[in-house]
Parts: sequence; C-alpha cells; structure tokens
Amino acid sequence: MTRTALYWEKSDDTVQCLLCPQYCVIVDSKTGRCLARRNRRGVLIAESWGQVTALALDPIEKKPLRRFYPGRMILSVGSYGCNLRCPFCQNHDISMKRADSRELAPDELAALAAEAAGEGNIGVAYTYNEPLIGYEYVLDCAKQVRARGLKNVLVTNGTINSEPLAELLPWIDAMNIDLKCFSDEGYRQLGGLLKPVKETVRAAVSHCHVEVTTLIVPGISDIESELMVLAAWLASVDENIPLHISRYTPRYLYAKPSTDVAEVYRLADLARRHLRHVFTGNC
Ligand code: SF4
Repeated sequence: MTRTALYWEKSDDTVQCLLCPQYCVIVDSKTGRCLARRNRRGVLIAESWGQVTALALDPIEKKPLRRFYPGRMILSVGSYGCNLRCPFCQNHDISMKRADSRELAPDELAALAAEAAGEGNIGVAYTYNEPLIGYEYVLDCAKQVRARGLKNVLVTNGTINSEPLAELLPWIDAMNIDLKCFSDEGYRQLGGLLKPVKETVRAAVSHCHVEVTTLIVPGISDIESELMVLAAWLASVDENIPLHISRYTPRYLYAKPSTDVAEVYRLADLARRHLRHVFTGNC
C-alpha cells in the first residue's frame, strides 16, 4: 500500500515536506525526521499509510477524553514514527523506529469500527504514535468513518502546519492535544516548538471538542509558575477546556524518578483557579 503525500514541494533533487513545522528537506530514498514520509525519486510518499502497529478497543477515558461520550469505547489505531523527540516517550517502541506493522485499508478500519458498535464503540481514535505524520491515512479513514455515522478522535502532539490542519478539522469530532510544557526552551528539549501547538489548540477549539494533556515531567514541565501560565492561557481560549495533568513515570531515555503523586494533585488544584475541568492521570 502506498500513497503520494500531500503538502510538499520539489526542488532540484530534494523534496521539502510542508506538513509540519519541521519542514524537512529530504534527499532521494531518505525519510523525514518522523520516519513516515520518504522521498522516492523526487516524489514524497506517505510511507506509513495503511501500516498499523496497534489496534485495540479502549474506553474513551483512556485517550484521555473525559467529557466526550463518557462510558463509551473507541477503536484505537496507531502506526509508527513521530515528529518530536521526547526523551520520556511512553510509546517509543513504535514512535522512534519503523516498527513492525500490518496493512489495514481505510474501508477495512471503518468496517471494523462499525462492527464494534455493539460493544459500545463510537468510532476511531488515531493515537499511540503521532497520527498527524500519517496525515493522509487519517484523512482517508476519517472520511470513511464519518460516512458510517461514527466519530473521529485525534490524540496528537499538535505539531502540524495550519493549512493541512484546516483541511482535516472538518472530519474530526474530538481531539486530545498534548501541551507538553509552556516554554520555547522546554519544547526545544523535545525537538519541537510551542507556537504551532498553541495555534493547533486555538484552531481545533473552533471546530471540535478539545481536551488538553500535560505530563508533569521533572526538569521539563514541573515548574509551577509555568504551569499556571499554561492554565491561564488555556482559560483565555476557553475556560471549559478540560486539562489532564498526568503523572510521569520513567520511560525510554529519561531516568528521573516518577513525579510525586502529591505534587500532581497540588498542581491540579492550582490549575483549577483558571479552568473549570482539571483531571489528574496516572496517579
Ligand atoms: S511530517 Fe515528517 S517529514 Fe514532514 S516536515 Fe514533519 S517531520 Fe518532516
């Protein structure tokens, strides 16, 4: 299964991907930073299209979404690769390498989602790895899922350019967006940028249900003053946006000890000064 990518341009013997703010310039036969998009003889191919590494029927609260069809299930699908480089990645076995996969076409995924309706399934969640680097698969699947009267949910780091996001949003019913910290320096440590994520949150809120997750990672996102600025900013967008404050445990390259449960609760209480719905996770 292959599909030509959307959002790229050719220059001499390289292509430049315009999907996300990494703007990778890719020479022939190589992939971009996310591993999912390859220059094949001057054409950018969405190589992870239809390549599924994980498929499970999960409670919607696990995405996490707490105020979107509570108590229901969602068929959750993942592929491989990511456009960030978080050293504490919880899913590094599929996000940081070309993990083993099986093929699943959009109509097959939509059919599976419809079959699971009897088990309380409301649709499909694109999750586990970063779904937006597999943009074309999400777009193609979302159309098929919507045609069956089901919901589309994106669980994303929000690192995408505004034009492709605008094309996708009409097909999306709910998003959980990771706001990993609230400083340029913090995002630099993760190989990303804060500004495009804020723009994604703002754009998404005007189209679909949005919840935000911040993992409290020691040394990156555990600064009280910064978290308060994050919560105040989120409230300036909409004080009804649910914020999930989640507890870090050591993973991948990051060995710092787990965040104190009491500290997660304390930060959540402080965030409630700005936001109406603050939830804790992994506690
Ligand atoms: S989507 Fe992938 S290839 Fe495209 S700019 Fe982002 S990281 Fe690079």
